[in-house]
Amino acid sequence: MSTIFSQIVAGEIPARVVYEDERTIAFLDANPLSPGHTLVIPKDEYERLNDVPDDVASDLYATIHRLVPAVEEAVDADATTVAFNNGEEAGQEVPHVHCHIIPRFEGDGGGPIHAIAGETPDLGDDELDEIAADIESNA
Ligand code: AMP
Repeated sequence: MSTIFSQIVAGEIPARVVYEDERTIAFLDANPLSPGHTLVIPKDEYERLNDVPDDVASDLYATIHRLVPAVEEAVDADATTVAFNNGEEAGQEVPHVHCHIIPRFEGDGGGPIHAIAGETPDLGDDELDEIAADIESNA
């Protein structure tokens, strides 16, 4: 079954499309967290960032890179929070990779990315070294 975003790509449901190229498309979020809240997606359906092939990842980043200043300028934002909910446990509701570009304004009452975590861990040097080594060997 195709995701709601694939239906947007196919033109089956309406969206306020702000940019489109061969492999990516960007449109306004239907429930904006701020004016100009935009989603950037690969047209093909991949559930998580981990599933996106390298060449599509490059195109996706290029579109994000292009859209961030375009969005900021359009709504006269002071800044943007740019983020992916990557997986259900991280809050991803639509199983089709999407980048949120959320315009931010001085005094908007929102928080930084750091505000998303629950209880933060108290990790010792050995644990940090082990984690860093594991990530390095997987990269
Ligand atoms: P996430 O929680 O990261 O999966 O975010 C999904 C986002 O998609 C939410 O911010 C929704 O408001 C947005 N959304 C869901 N359906 C639509 C739609 N038809 N058009 C535009 N945005 C949508």
